[in-house]
Amino acid sequence: MSRRPLVAGNWKMHTGRDSAVALAAAVAAGAPSHAEIAVFPPFPWLIPVAQTLAGSVVRLGAQDCWTEPAGAVTGAVSPTMLAEICSLVIVGHSERRKLFGESDDLVATKTRAAQAAGLTPIVCVGEDLAVRQTGQAIEVVSNQVERSLAGVAPADIARLVIAYEPVWAIGTGVAATSTDAHEMAHAIRTVIRRMAGDAARSVRILYGGSVTPANAAGFMDGAEVDGALVGGASLTADSFLAIAAAVAH
Ligand code: PEP
Repeated sequence: MSRRPLVAGNWKMHTGRDSAVALAAAVAAGAPSHAEIAVFPPFPWLIPVAQTLAGSVVRLGAQDCWTEPAGAVTGAVSPTMLAEICSLVIVGHSERRKLFGESDDLVATKTRAAQAAGLTPIVCVGEDLAVRQTGQAIEVVSNQVERSLAGVAPADIARLVIAYEPVWAIGTGVAATSTDAHEMAHAIRTVIRRMAGDAARSVRILYGGSVTPANAAGFMDGAEVDGALVGGASLTADSFLAIAAAVAH
């Protein structure tokens, strides 16, 4: 099965209103048609960016969501609300796991809630440096995948996206090798096959962590990695579009 490459730009807590709109406009103007491109601005800029992207092929996503459609949860944003303005949501990013103490259980609940609201979740997993150095990365990430997708129906697993983002590679300038990314994507697909059979053929697996225009194409070597989740290099249209072009060559 051929899976369409996806290049996702996580703007994190960067940009102001004007620079977010300008960045979205520049990405929309240069987006290639052969890849799926998505941007994930901070919450306050979702609506102006949605307006800017109207009529373009660029998809819009949020950086996080809560687990319930509505309720007394001060400061949270529900997947139901997000589904009115965007189509994707990142869940379980390592910064949320670290800074907000998010567990695999919570990530699984968010994943199910996002899908129930009609959003496509990008579920992030990845090992830290100590785990990589002790040779346990595949085991730890495989467990993370299993626990972060607990209770998700096989047909729903087929429709979501997994991002393998080694924590030590995020924002450090030290990317994984394409061999390591490929090996991990293969391991993740093996877990998915065990959990959800044929869903393993359609689930998209991205690599994220210090992706640049120079290294992006390498991650697409082999049959397992289906695109990139990009942080720093998504903050300028030129570098993000160069990554998109490299991934979808
Ligand atoms: C990220 O935060 O998801 C990420 C991959 O960041 P960077 O590309 O800056 O390493």
